[in-house]
Amino acid sequence: MNVYDSARMADVLAPLGYEPADAPDGADMVIVNTCHIRENASEKTFHELGRLRQMKQRKAAEGGQMVLAVAGCVAQAEGAEIMARAPFVDMVFGPQAYHRLPEMVARATRSAAGPGERGVLDTDFPVESKFDHLPEEQKLEGASAFLTVQEGCDKFCTFCVVPYTRGAEFSRPAAQIVAEARRLVGSGAKEITLLGQNVNAYHGAGPDGRDWGLGRLIRALAEIDGLARIRYTTSHPRDMDDDLISAHGAVPALMPYLHLPVQSGSDRVLEAMNRKHKAADYRRIVDKLRAARPDLALSSDFIVGFPGESEADFKETLKLVGDVGYAQAFSFKYSSRPGTPAALLEMQIEEQAKSDRLYALQALLTEQQTAFNASMAGRTLPVLVEKTGKLPGQLIGKSPYLQSVVIRGNPRLIGQIVPVAIDAGYANSLSGSVEPVAEMEGAA
Ligand code: SAH
Ligand code: SF4
Repeated sequence: MNVYDSARMADVLAPLGYEPADAPDGADMVIVNTCHIRENASEKTFHELGRLRQMKQRKAAEGGQMVLAVAGCVAQAEGAEIMARAPFVDMVFGPQAYHRLPEMVARATRSAAGPGERGVLDTDFPVESKFDHLPEEQKLEGASAFLTVQEGCDKFCTFCVVPYTRGAEFSRPAAQIVAEARRLVGSGAKEITLLGQNVNAYHGAGPDGRDWGLGRLIRALAEIDGLARIRYTTSHPRDMDDDLISAHGAVPALMPYLHLPVQSGSDRVLEAMNRKHKAADYRRIVDKLRAARPDLALSSDFIVGFPGESEADFKETLKLVGDVGYAQAFSFKYSSRPGTPAALLEMQIEEQAKSDRLYALQALLTEQQTAFNASMAGRTLPVLVEKTGKLPGQLIGKSPYLQSVVIRGNPRLIGQIVPVAIDAGYANSLSGSVEPVAEMEGAA
């Protein structure tokens, strides 16, 4: 979502004459768009600011001015601390405020130029939705686009900062989303990934006066001519309703890959996390999804070392992974976040135990991912070509299962979906060459 937000900030700043620079050194404005989800993410922000301070000083010594801003969830959660710890920062604003950038820039450049008010802090959750104030014009890079449909979260998992930094759940009206999708397809998008912290909790006002769920929205988007691929992320198991599950079988453009985080395989831990589902519920949902779309590739997030997690709890996570079988996954050591209920729990797990568990879990997940990738050898897959690769004659694209594919082919294929004969699958990618269209599996 930060990638989407950054692109939208660029859209907001374009009328003021700003355009993306290749590197921060020498730029007139640098915005650090931050993530607060784990501890090292916010430490990285302060580290990065130290580096940017020198560039800002260099620019000032040359008689120029670099406006330095911190955006995103670290700004939202630690705005005052940033202003105090890094007083050379000109603007600090949260993820719900960036449509007000033009006004902030005016204030920041005025105060940076002379005496008076110093630094602009905007971490309000405004009453108006930023989506009603963002420009319609969007600059699209490549044939794959992100589109935020939902933001915020009301789930309050005990480890997570998102409900505090992104605020309450909010769904954009369906017509606004469909219009944005049409514009993206008009400017060349073939694939759209719908975004939300809790994307399948989507319940936006539909043009028919009813509330639309994500399944209904996806069916409407699938009618847009030229939109070949639809994806969505990130989903919560609790909101995986039957209509959405059946869309996986009924909508060919909906890609056979789903990121559905389970976090843990132990009911005791899931309950302490306030995930509001049991491991068996998750297994049932996976069965239903695979009944609707037998080739669905699954991915998940896992947290190891949640306070109180025993070896037996952790074994249940390994068991669940073994049973479900993942094509990809993200796994993290539990990281204590200030202000969240889990941070106050006793029985925090030792660093060494967290590392051991992460190592064991990742070994299993890597094995599954490598086997899944290897199973593609000999198949012909439709690949959306994104860019050139490192070596001449190399292209990089994405399979329907979100695998990176290294292709031998002509750069004029960038932006197209082409059939690729896969010759091998590795831990993190596939390789293959472009095939004549007639042999392609499936439509998209
Ligand atoms: N809304 C999504 C997840 C958003 S956060 C969901 O409910 O699944 C992305 C991932 O970061 C989470 O799935 C979780 O695995 C990880 N994460 C969040 N808070 C964390 C913490 N305090 N420590 C370690 N990992 C965390
Ligand atoms: Fe965080 Fe996801 Fe839980 Fe919401 S549902 S609190 S975003 S982990």
